[in-house]
Amino acid sequence: GQTENVLEVNNIEVIYNHVILVLKGVSLNVPQGGITALLGGNGAGKTTTLKAISGLLASERGEVTKGSIKYRGTVIQHQDPADIVKSGVVQVMEGRHCFEHLTVEENLLTGAYTRREGKAAIQRDLEMVYDYFPRLKERRKSQAGYTSGGEQQMTAIGRALMSKPETILLDEPSMGLAPQLVEQIFEIVKSVNENEGVTFLLAEQNTNVALRFAHYGYILESGRVVMDGPAADLRENPDVKEFYLGMS
Ligand code: ATP
Repeated sequence: GQTENVLEVNNIEVIYNHVILVLKGVSLNVPQGGITALLGGNGAGKTTTLKAISGLLASERGEVTKGSIKYRGTVIQHQDPADIVKSGVVQVMEGRHCFEHLTVEENLLTGAYTRREGKAAIQRDLEMVYDYFPRLKERRKSQAGYTSGGEQQMTAIGRALMSKPETILLDEPSMGLAPQLVEQIFEIVKSVNENEGVTFLLAEQNTNVALRFAHYGYILESGRVVMDGPAADLRENPDVKEFYLGMS
């Protein structure tokens, strides 16, 4: 049988400030247990798409004005962000967004605030996060604001994991990081996906690395999906090579 799509975005239009039309009918499917990449250049609409899903558009004066967003069959586009988190979808924002004055470990623990389990379960998950990110264990007592860019990205992903998500929306994980670190972060995403079964939808400008780790990709241009396909096919596509992989 076919894999179930946990997330279905159907022909959405997004408008900022009542006038600026940014998404012009975007559709995409995110299969359960997969890594799906949302690709495209600066301003293509990747972040807007992720925020439309996580409910974070409202705080930016953005609005889904057409189409639908369904998570496990339920329309979520008018739900509160907190309810969307409760249904299992959590976004890791672009630019890492740690609480700079809290320690790395305190940051991770903030990810568990909606959970009702006791301390033991949360402690177990903290250890799980430290197993994926040994570097965070070493830095756990450091103030997050004083850790490196890579460590802050790890903290942001680790905090998302602490909410026990089913699906992580990951915005531009490679941003500002050295190639070796980017590789390391993507390796960890891959093992979290494989071992914990977490579904990923990730926005990336770094097409090259994203298509090596994702299973399926969508390419956005000016608020429209211009191409989509299995990552392996996109990697071999002449247009993708010429315009996105920089090796025509
Ligand atoms: P980036 O890599 O720069 O984040 P992106 O593909 O994620 O690019 P978006 O951030 O979604 O693109 O932006 C898409 C378009 O929407 C851009 O033209 C941007 O200027 C515009 N935009 C984004 N946020 C707002 C906002 N709050 N108000 C008005 N316009 C916005």
